[in-house]
Amino acid sequence: MRDPCDLCETAARDDRWAIIEEGEHTLTVINPWQFEVGQCCVITRRHVATLLDLSRPECEAILVAAKRVAEALVSAYDPLGILTFQNNGVYSGQETPHFHFHVVPRQKGSDWGIGPPQLATFESAGRPRGTLHDASDDARRRERVRASATQLAETAERIRSSLPK
Ligand SMILES: [Zn+2]
Repeated sequence: MRDPCDLCETAARDDRWAIIEEGEHTLTVINPWQFEVGQCCVITRRHVATLLDLSRPECEAILVAAKRVAEALVSAYDPLGILTFQNNGVYSGQETPHFHFHVVPRQKGSDWGIGPPQLATFESAGRPRGTLHDASDDARRRERVRASATQLAETAERIRSSLPK
């Protein structure tokens, strides 16, 4: 539990800088932690915690929204790949107790491996096979990916303008 919920607050405030696209069941938002430039999340309008709490219409809307923003990211950033992931429960690495589906454009040279530290520790997650994640520099990396509001607004606008018509 987290009260107030920061994702509900974002939706309630109608934060135009943060919201890339709105649907009946979902919002696509820029992730304030830019592990990769352009990293987004599709969140539910309804405050629910995990995949297990979703209705069928929400399930469908989430994947449709994720595909739309993935197409925008390909158009805007020409990534080598698009990573999607989603955590359910503290023991899966979930940090925010409101459903969020990550959509991440992957670029060459990312020193995180597959994503945030809890995933980066998996062996060969985007690194040469057999290379383990070096956690010694994670505090500096975390600081580096904390984008300013101005940077986030610019990134969100670039993605928004690249959405398929
Ligand atoms: Zn919430």
